[in-house]
Amino acid sequence: MDDAAYFQALPKAELHLHLDGSVRPRTVLELARQGGVPLPTQDLERLSDFLEATDSTASLIEYIAYFELPIAVLQSVPALERATYELCEDLKNDNVRYAEIRYGPWLHVQQGLSLTDVIRAVLSGWNAGRKAFGIEGGVIVTALRDMPPAQNVSLAQVAGRYVSEGVVGFDLAGDEAGHPPILHEDAFRVARSLGLNITIHAGEAAGPESVRQAISMGAMRLGHGVRAQEDAEVVAMIKENGVQLDMAPTSNAQTKAVRRIQEHPLKRFYEQGIKVTISTDSRTVSDVTLTQEYQTVSRVLGCSPEDIAAMNLQALDGGFSDDVTRARLRHEFVDAIAKLRPAAPTSG
Ligand SMILES: [Zn+2]
Repeated sequence: MDDAAYFQALPKAELHLHLDGSVRPRTVLELARQGGVPLPTQDLERLSDFLEATDSTASLIEYIAYFELPIAVLQSVPALERATYELCEDLKNDNVRYAEIRYGPWLHVQQGLSLTDVIRAVLSGWNAGRKAFGIEGGVIVTALRDMPPAQNVSLAQVAGRYVSEGVVGFDLAGDEAGHPPILHEDAFRVARSLGLNITIHAGEAAGPESVRQAISMGAMRLGHGVRAQEDAEVVAMIKENGVQLDMAPTSNAQTKAVRRIQEHPLKRFYEQGIKVTISTDSRTVSDVTLTQEYQTVSRVLGCSPEDIAAMNLQALDGGFSDDVTRARLRHEFVDAIAKLRPAAPTSG
């Protein structure tokens, strides 16, 4: 079995996955027609240019621009349900068995939905999708950095009501430079008190200080954390505190958290004993599946299939699911790894 077949067949866990960045291009087209949302083109091929970042994408700000169209069409209950359900199907086809899907509810209230409507719509798509396609995991509600802090406090309060229905975590994302996490400390205090697990995007467009703050706010899992590599003290802090980094090398190269994917610290961090996991971040915007991302990590970063399988198990172990689900899936994953492992590692 070659690496590509191995990574496809491996049951996988993905922790860092944005709903709005993972809407199928065809679905964007259809939802735009239904909702009367103007698109720059009606041609599916050409529409991809407006939905997919490239290597020449210059920054996180430029990367975020690729979310504008999907967000514009995700403004109704059926649209949110459909996109979430289809993402579950895409995960199934990628053999992802455990997933945490995240999104920022405040981005979906432009046409009159309430936060509650949005959260219920995504949960409805998730619960239908996970049953239909056999996926475990949950939904992470993302607060936005450039929102007034009080609005993120309200978001945490609403999200906290849905803990028993599949909302498993609370996150902070958006333009990182100029919006330090600490501004939203209150929202995270509320989220924690309501039983939500905490993860924060940090060390992507801003440096080590952002990582330090995120950890001080109770985040045991960071989105990316790439730029922690600029400060040995912060790297040591990550390791000592057992903080997990949910990284997405293709996306990290597109947002210029690293200049080139070859410079990505995933392998170095792994070798230093830091908990790292691999995700796509955004399946459409980064135009990648988790199977493909594993291949890239193997081919470009030089991680062995065994290392990658270990990172995959780490994703399962670090997930926000309950212990029973985790134990059951761990059994399944370990079993599959034993059965699928390439017989003899070949050179390169
Ligand atoms: Zn992200």
